[in-house]
Order: sequence, then structure tokens, then C-alpha cells
Amino acid sequence: MTRRILVVEDNELSRELLCDWLEAEDYRVASATNLEQAFAAMQEMPPDAVLLDVQLGVQDGLSIAAWIRKQSTLSHIPVIAVTAHAMVTEQERIFLAGCNACISKPVDFKLLRQQLDQWLVSALSPIVIPGE
Ligand code: MN
Repeated sequence: MTRRILVVEDNELSRELLCDWLEAEDYRVASATNLEQAFAAMQEMPPDAVLLDVQLGVQDGLSIAAWIRKQSTLSHIPVIAVTAHAMVTEQERIFLAGCNACISKPVDFKLLRQQLDQWLVSALSPIVIPGE
């Protein structure tokens, strides 16, 4: 089954690099360069996972993650944040916004493949509530 990935990234070169790699890995890819395009893409055709650049120019990419978590029909979709700032405070902000994982730039594609494999599988599994 071909999985659809939405890439949200404002930098053209980074976006093309991610999209080209995903296509070479046999994913179907959609992309957005800003919050408005990302919201529209999520509603038009929800992807199986989102790769989210945290800093979309002056826009905060994390507002997409927070919004996804509030939509009953979208909240199960894994969101993997991509950030140039690997500091602990940034990571806290990323996870608080509802992202499932966080990888730093420049993207390590081996790590990205591991993260996609992990989150695309768990998105299909029944939700396990810790402690139950
Ligand atoms: Mn950016």
C-alpha cells in the first residue's frame, strides 16, 4: 500500500530534497510551503503522515500540529517535526504541540526512514493507553 506523506516546508531546496527522497522511497507526496496550504492539504486529502518544518518563515509550523490534534478525523495522523534547533526547549515545544517525533536538520535520511516506518505502523495499530 502506497502511503501518502504531506511535506510542509517553506525552503524550496529542503522541500525538493525531502520530496525527491520520499518519491524515490515509493511514497506518494504532497507538499505545502505555508500554514494556509498545509491546512488546505490536510482537509482536501488527509495524508498518512506529515513531515513538518517547525519554522515556516515567520509562521510557526507547530500550529499545524496543534490543529491536527484537535480534529477528530485527523488527530491520529503522525506528525514528524523537522527542526534546525535541536535544543531541549525546542523539543519540549515540539512535543507539547502534539508532534510524535522530532528530527533535526540536515535530515539524516536513515533516521527519517526509521521514524516513518515506526509511526506509519503504529498509526495502523489500535491505540494503546499506557498503564492499562
Ligand atoms: Mn523553514
